[in-house]
Amino acid sequence: MKFKTAKINAFRTWGLLLTMLGMGLMVLGTAGIVFWGSTGKVFAGIGLVIGLISMMASLAIYFWAGMLSTSAVQLECPECHKLTKMLGKTDRCMFCHTILTMDPAEANITAEQLKSQQLNQ
Ligand SMILES: [Zn+2]
Repeated sequence: MKFKTAKINAFRTWGLLLTMLGMGLMVLGTAGIVFWGSTGKVFAGIGLVIGLISMMASLAIYFWAGMLSTSAVQLECPECHKLTKMLGKTDRCMFCHTILTMDPAEANITAEQLKSQQLNQ
């Protein structure tokens, strides 16, 4: 699992994983009935319930990510010059995963310093 990612992308990844897990469990549960008959029905029931819960959870995460991305600040990444979104005071660039911050106390380099560094190279 890669954690070096922008927060919005992390939410999307988890939402997708939960959806896949939920669908997988529902499919497995249904397959249980086919293979084991009546004993499979118990597994099918459990699989369907857990699958449904994880699908609902993934929906909630997607919804939350959607809400968060509307409040996200859009800015041009100083490192790769692509338009990215950041959540909160500190987040990573969606493209090059550079840590970006709005808080001058947290920053160890400013956009201007970075620019002059790149020019000197
Ligand atoms: Zn970037």
